[in-house]
Amino acid sequence: MGEAPKGRFAPTPSGRMHAGNILSALIAWLSIRSAGGTLVLRIEDLDPRAQDREVAKLLMDDLAWLGLDWDEGPYFQSSRHEIYREAVAQLTERGLTYPCFCTRAELHAASAPHASDGTYVYQGTCRHLTPEEVAAKAAVRKPAIRLIVPDAEDPAGTISFTDMVYGPKTEVLARECGDFLIQRSDGVCAYQLAVTIDDGLMGVTQVVRGHDLLGSCARQIYLQRLFGLKTPQYAHVPLLMSPAGRRLSKRDHDLDLGVMRKRYGHPGPIIGMLASAVGLAEQGEEVLPQDLVPRFSWDIIRAHRADIVVNDAFLW
Ligand code: GLU
Repeated sequence: MGEAPKGRFAPTPSGRMHAGNILSALIAWLSIRSAGGTLVLRIEDLDPRAQDREVAKLLMDDLAWLGLDWDEGPYFQSSRHEIYREAVAQLTERGLTYPCFCTRAELHAASAPHASDGTYVYQGTCRHLTPEEVAAKAAVRKPAIRLIVPDAEDPAGTISFTDMVYGPKTEVLARECGDFLIQRSDGVCAYQLAVTIDDGLMGVTQVVRGHDLLGSCARQIYLQRLFGLKTPQYAHVPLLMSPAGRRLSKRDHDLDLGVMRKRYGHPGPIIGMLASAVGLAEQGEEVLPQDLVPRFSWDIIRAHRADIVVNDAFLW
């Protein structure tokens, strides 16, 4: 028997939670509660635009209202900048980083090579700048900081892992992303670094989150190896999509929890709708998270891992 797992909710308070965020939180909660583990709440307000304590409070109130409780935290990433700066400094001392002066337009140019998921692959433009070139550029522009990834032929840069829902994955960092950002040009630490350091320091052993973040695992595992941190189990869960095939976001206000709380008045229909979409409840059944604990299994989620289209049949 392994140890009881430690999971986390890691919401970004850039707006009210929407149905997609709730589905990830529900599955993370069920996995941990059905295995007798513990959950951490971490508010991912790294970005100054997301540093809204009022929104964070609403988020916590929404989780509690839904019946999704946690055991540790809240931790706020906005209070942890020192920890991240120290981590970036360590990598820099080890000769693993360099300053990057490329503009957004340069990075996203149509001529730039792109990975299978459409994101750009950094070509190492700033990797070999001389100290004089760095000084000249730094006089006019604040640099971002990138982490050097091994060349494609070096086995250290090939990352393999098994996602509990989507199965085995292998990624060659040099081909999928290239040297990646660990600190932005405004001095704010990049998501990949903050999340890796936090999951490591908080002892998280199970990461459950939306399918859109599956492509971040290889970078996070590579960082874990550099810092000697353990790799958690990863489980990515289906996304909610609009009928037009777009991922639902905080802009889809009908599915924002503020609107849904008013419309339904009770968590039963909301949890029921999401649970039935992943095979944990009957269509039309009202349930609370607690009721689903004995029904939960990863096999059921695996069997329902296709993204979920939110159409009129989905919304009761
Ligand atoms: N903060 C991210 C979000 O709200 C999740 C990051 C993660 O789970 O690794 O989408």
